[in-house]
Amino acid sequence: MEAASEATARPMRILMITSEAVPFAKVGGLADVVPALAAELARRGHDVRLVMPRYPATSRDTAARIPGALGVPMGMHEYWTELLETHLPSTEPAVKVYFIEHLQLFATDAIYARPGESHSPDNLLRFGVLTRAAFQLCRKLSWYPEIVHAHDWPSALAPVYLYTIEDSAPFHRTASVFSIHNLGYQGVFSLDHLRHLPLRQPEIERSGLEFFGQVNSLKAGILCADTVTTVSPRYAREIQDEAYGFGLDGVLRERSLDLYGILNGIDYSVWDSENDPFLPAGFSQQDMRGKAECKSALQRCFGLERRPGAPVVGMIARLVDQKGLAELSAPGWGCLPAVLAELNLQFVVLGTGDPGHEDRLAELARRYDNFAYERTFDERLAHLIEGGSDLFLMPSRYEPCGLNQMYSLRYGTLPIATATGGLLDTIVDASDPSGDGTGFLIAHCTPGDIHSAIARAVRLYHEQPEKLQAMRARAMRRRFDWGQSAAEYEQAYLHAVQRRISR
Ligand code: ADP
Repeated sequence: MEAASEATARPMRILMITSEAVPFAKVGGLADVVPALAAELARRGHDVRLVMPRYPATSRDTAARIPGALGVPMGMHEYWTELLETHLPSTEPAVKVYFIEHLQLFATDAIYARPGESHSPDNLLRFGVLTRAAFQLCRKLSWYPEIVHAHDWPSALAPVYLYTIEDSAPFHRTASVFSIHNLGYQGVFSLDHLRHLPLRQPEIERSGLEFFGQVNSLKAGILCADTVTTVSPRYAREIQDEAYGFGLDGVLRERSLDLYGILNGIDYSVWDSENDPFLPAGFSQQDMRGKAECKSALQRCFGLERRPGAPVVGMIARLVDQKGLAELSAPGWGCLPAVLAELNLQFVVLGTGDPGHEDRLAELARRYDNFAYERTFDERLAHLIEGGSDLFLMPSRYEPCGLNQMYSLRYGTLPIATATGGLLDTIVDASDPSGDGTGFLIAHCTPGDIHSAIARAVRLYHEQPEKLQAMRARAMRRRFDWGQSAAEYEQAYLHAVQRRISR
């Protein structure tokens, strides 16, 4: 939107704290979203800086060491960390990135859990140190942000510290914004982990860190932040409801006046069907010939027979229950065997995650010659699937925003996705009376509904090619720009500043 391409708020100093950011470390969408938002805010005139851990695989090629160790007081202990400074690539003006390096706490590339674990046992300490280090960093630089913007449970302690031990000068004018990218991950620990934090009992009570006899980091972040945001308007409403609240719906309802739902944008320079270095040919709304070439390359790459007449359904996901994996492939229940046997289609999946889900997909790939599965994390394959598929499946149980459906729309790869969260905010169903359809909504995440939505899409592919072309063209025209989202974050920041002044 034109009006939103310029800043709607005075220039601010903004410190973002995150556990992942491309190109340095990535598990999921959070890693794409934080740097993209930071870059857009910088472009709009704000002084935005990022703090994150340095994991062993994080490239330090461009990073310079800041002289002098950074002491991080954590109750009885002080942790000595090293600081490195670099910037986000291709940002103008450059967004500074500070790495917190600690050889024990951030010793492996497992951001949240080592192989075989669901959760590293020392995570509260690890991310407690990261967030505290962010404040120490500001002191070291004599640079004091007006906004500390924390993302998901790993940085939820930042608003907690600002509300308790960092409440006074030099942070007396600093407001906190806390963004929930996924309510399903809350950073829950047994109470004895509190001994790692630099908080005394009254501060622990004031912050609301305890929840039903455990530490709940996300809950405390929600309660202590001046403003809370989440990544789509629909998800902002859903999480205040018991069905989607993961036990925190009551806490979120308490904060409803300070809760913003702001849709993520995507980076159209990375996801550009006309100029995508990972694709064998580019294509556009006006000239779709390259898409057929991408489809052939995809079929070749995944070892599928070349069948131009059959639609290819693609899927890229962390293979966890949230993404509808059980509904697809659980033995005796999932719909994938019937979909593969009954429908005239080919199907490719890219993803890693729960070993049970991975094994079942591998087994299905052995049994069905119209199904292929790659058990890896691979950016190039992700682009090839988006570019070469006809349809894209996202049968999520819940989806805060979702990025892949927005990439799919850009590539004319029509999404088949559950009518929930950000999926519902970004996709219009083929049967919508407005005639603006860009995809196929799955009514509920059940095997039956997933099967019938895929069948509906496949039928349209075979029987109504003109309607399919019109939907593709419409999908490719849709834009989810960061400019619009950044303008809404600016409003959330101003709200946080107001709240900070009044408390
Ligand atoms: P979530 O953050 O819940 O994982 P999103 O759809 O918001 O889901 O974002 C997932 C991001 O991670 C997308 O950019 C997606 O393409 C990427 N991704 C997930 N799994 C893989 C994989 N195996 N290979 C490459 N990219 C992947």
